[in-house]
Amino acid sequence: GTQQKVEANILLLGAENVGKSALTVRFITRRFIGEYGEIESIYSHIDTVDGREISFNIWDSLYPQDSAITESISEKQLQWADGVILVYSICDRSSFEVVRQQVQRIRHASRKMSATAPIIIVGNKRDLQHRRTVSSEEGRLLALSEDCVFFEISAAETYHGVLLVFHGLIDLIKESRALR
Ligand code: GDP
Ligand code: MG
Repeated sequence: GTQQKVEANILLLGAENVGKSALTVRFITRRFIGEYGEIESIYSHIDTVDGREISFNIWDSLYPQDSAITESISEKQLQWADGVILVYSICDRSSFEVVRQQVQRIRHASRKMSATAPIIIVGNKRDLQHRRTVSSEEGRLLALSEDCVFFEISAAETYHGVLLVFHGLIDLIKESRALR
């Protein structure tokens, strides 16, 4: 039958060094390279989710040094995004606090724009258990309180968790479009 191609704009946010680029590259190439450099980029990737072709546009953002810039950029990013992935590292508590601020800012801005971009919160670097400073429970509670879905993954160790995040977000985007 005729199938309409679905586009999904996905925005990755979070502090520096948490694995935003690692997640993006793992999803697109299935590989973990290790070093990604400081590039801001929008990647296009086609993948099949539940038997349907999805055209992904993935904005792998850079965390700005200047917080004034953070405010102005995020408005533009939020207009663009159909869904957001907020990433922290389980061994970097300050990155968890960045996600807490970002999720609140997004929810606040979305209310003003009367938009409801679904958000997935990701605790990355699960392989580094011995250096963990953010418990799974804290991540889960933050997600619960902001009506987000939560995953703990390791972009370094497996493709599977990364796939669950991106495909999970597609499901949420479809749900939110059906409600509009
Ligand atoms: P970004 O600044 O958020 O884009 O972070 P990057 O994707 O560049 O990753 C920052 C560093 O963390 C790099 O050295 C990656 O190799 C490393 N990294 C990313 N994901 C993982 C992970 O799941 N486990 C471990 N151990 N290291 C990771
Ligand atoms: Mg990066």
